[in-house]
Amino acid sequence: MEMTKADFHKIRDNIKINTQAFIDGKFCEAEDGAKLETINPATGELITSFTHCGPADVDRAVKAARRVFNDGTWSRASPEYRKEILFKLAELVEQNNHELAVLESIDAGKTISDCLQETGSEAVNYFRWYAELADKTFGKVANTGEDALALIVKEPVGVVGAVVPWNFPFLMTVWKIASALAAGCSIVIKPAEQTPLSAIKLGELISEAGIPEGVVNILPGLGETAGQAIGLHNDIDVVTFTGSTEVGRMFMRYSGDSNLKGVGLELGGKSPFIVLDDADITDNLIEDAAMAAFWNGGQNCSANMRQIIAAPLVDEFLDKMTKRVAQFKLGDPLDPETTIGSMISSDHKNMVLDYINKGSSEGARLITGGDSDRTGSFIEPAIFDGVKNDMTIAREEIFGPVLGVMPVKSVEEALTVANDTVYGLHATVFTRDIDRAISMARRLPCGTVAINGFTEGDIKTPFGGYKQSGSLARENGTEALDQYLQTKTIWIATQPI
Ligand code: NAD
Repeated sequence: MEMTKADFHKIRDNIKINTQAFIDGKFCEAEDGAKLETINPATGELITSFTHCGPADVDRAVKAARRVFNDGTWSRASPEYRKEILFKLAELVEQNNHELAVLESIDAGKTISDCLQETGSEAVNYFRWYAELADKTFGKVANTGEDALALIVKEPVGVVGAVVPWNFPFLMTVWKIASALAAGCSIVIKPAEQTPLSAIKLGELISEAGIPEGVVNILPGLGETAGQAIGLHNDIDVVTFTGSTEVGRMFMRYSGDSNLKGVGLELGGKSPFIVLDDADITDNLIEDAAMAAFWNGGQNCSANMRQIIAAPLVDEFLDKMTKRVAQFKLGDPLDPETTIGSMISSDHKNMVLDYINKGSSEGARLITGGDSDRTGSFIEPAIFDGVKNDMTIAREEIFGPVLGVMPVKSVEEALTVANDTVYGLHATVFTRDIDRAISMARRLPCGTVAINGFTEGDIKTPFGGYKQSGSLARENGTEALDQYLQTKTIWIATQPI
């Protein structure tokens, strides 16, 4: 039976929210007893206070993670054992899907339908996929003469530090944990301060699944306290960070200022959605354009916010997009009918509204949306026409529902406009000409190029950014595992008989 808004409200009213850090297998307070508060951005109401970890807690967690890494209970356990436990964790996440989704929705203002999809389907699949990979990775044997046997083996890198953002709080946490655990690493992870609740709940399930104490440590806290302490810790071997380009830069500095730990970065974007003049403006294209811009209220790193449209198609495109966007339903995120939730906070809402004002004052034409006359941090999806690449709304990542339509006269101009950015996370191209499609894909410097449909790929395909959208690290696919493995050569001298 379909669940209703009343069902999700009932779950919310009965949830017993865990608010503590999870360190060395136990839930605990910060050493100095510090607390932070988390607000439901859709209502402005306080949800709860929670543990605010600082450097001393990070140090405690890293010591636990190192101890268990060195004793080998997880890092040197058989891959079949790791696989079995990760399967169990997947099952527990599936069983707790409704509670996880509701926690996520009230903490982040995300729609319950998206949360259910992310916690119940994608996260579960993620744990299963990496569980399967645990016993399916192989080393290599190099060619040698008969006087040697040269093995190239992969080993878990050690203690991983992870820092994640608020836009997909549970999924980003799972992306980091599942692949690091499959590789055999221990992990110290910090959720975003706006959205700690689903990650803390995961700690309970990790414990129940039987993952040894200290292998996973979950430390809620601020970026400038817990996040910085992770970046600067001398006994963390690799940091994996998802968030803004600005903070990504800090993690590079932290590494240089400490132990030169490896740094994997998944950062911001300002991705293009290109419609060439031979494309048909079909309902599917419009649906993809609307989702590319406004899914998760535009708070998506690979949102396609510069829609670069062949000039002869712009009127038809705008007419259809405006009608489609009018169908979005803003409102209570716990209502399954709601299709756009709130912004993450009132501060963030105000920042997005400033960008909308800037768009108008710099000469772009606001076609629809941009209002925010509701309680809570809601913004009606906005579409600007006549956006030029030197305007602020074309250059900066807004991370809100503000789409800029940019008319172009040729394929070359489309490419020039698309590539005139410091980012390189994602691009979409619509064309019926296969040669144009392939050529565009080759000439767009970004981690994912989607042709004739908006998609970020799936769990099998690596995800990450070119240019200032990331480092060489990739999430998803077998590539995600590579972030947490290092390569060793074992050269054995042999005597031919
Ligand atoms: P953010 O960079 O402000 O925060 C991300 C995390 O970094 C949070 O946990 C925060 O506490 C921590 N942090 C903040 N300041 C820090 C500091 N000085 N030292 C250490 N840690 C610090 O980003 P956000 O606003 O939470 O998320 C939005 C950004 O994330 C956008 O730029 C978006 O594009 C990006 N993002 C990228 C991907 C991707 O895979 N490429 C996915 C999701 C989000």
